[in-house]
Amino acid sequence: MSFESGLAGKVAIVTGGSRGIGRAIVELLAAQGVDVNFFYRGHATAAQEVIASVTAAGGKATALQVDVSDSAACIEAVNAVAERCERIDILINNAGIVRDNLMAAMEDDEISAVLDTNVGGVFNVTRPVIPFMMSQRAGRIVNLSSVAGNKAGRGQANYAASKGAIDALTRALAVELAPRKILVNAVAPGVIDTEMSQQVRDLADDEVKAKILLKRYGQAQEVANAVAFLVSDMASYVTGQILYVDGGFKMA
Ligand code: NDP
Repeated sequence: MSFESGLAGKVAIVTGGSRGIGRAIVELLAAQGVDVNFFYRGHATAAQEVIASVTAAGGKATALQVDVSDSAACIEAVNAVAERCERIDILINNAGIVRDNLMAAMEDDEISAVLDTNVGGVFNVTRPVIPFMMSQRAGRIVNLSSVAGNKAGRGQANYAASKGAIDALTRALAVELAPRKILVNAVAPGVIDTEMSQQVRDLADDEVKAKILLKRYGQAQEVANAVAFLVSDMASYVTGQILYVDGGFKMA
């Protein structure tokens, strides 16, 4: 028996695909024959690098500059993808930010920016995608959560709240969309070697690693592997789950 991803010819939207985990997801899906449309906020050069790397590997990727916290821009971008590709099979809600601070000192914009991007962004992109998946009677949605939604560090109240909301939203959407055969899951990474976690890794390297069962940080590729599994034919009976890719951080 061989393992078949069943991903060739599918159409995907990946938010935050220009860097880090999102870039690894874009590259992995494109390598499986998926036509990948990815959103980025501002780093146009990074986005072009992703397109160049996907194209060089023989894949297909298109970049759209879309701020996921802007609902009207998300509707327009999702409709543009559907018009060009004539379907949307996969949505990966990956875009996210951190603005760590202790709660008593937290500024209004540190709270609103994190909630508007990490939670609002998922509503803004998912809502216009759902009608296309419903009419196809098929679809896969994967949301990027975080181990912080379950086990946060100091100064992460805003971020932890945003990822806890993603876990709840994932379960609620799985219930709502199951009758239309749309599967909804989340991947919750631990500490992954990307720009987002740079500060934490620089400030408390040994302390953080000591809390991870595998005693090392994860790579973006390792998170992308879990996402690819959840959107593949291999995960046809999996919905409403939060898959931790954290080297055992949550357990330690
Ligand atoms: P990075 O900071 O490396 O990359 C973030 C990506 O999101 C970039 O492509 C960025 O675009 C995009 N982005 C940010 N804000 C917006 C926005 N408003 N609209 C559109 N795109 C946006 O993050 P990671 O790759 O590390 O994180 C990816 C996801 O994984 C996030 O949801 C994060 O919370 C989660 N995660 C990460 C962990 C880690 O240790 N790295 C741990 C647990 C969860 P641009 O390049 O244009 O700025």
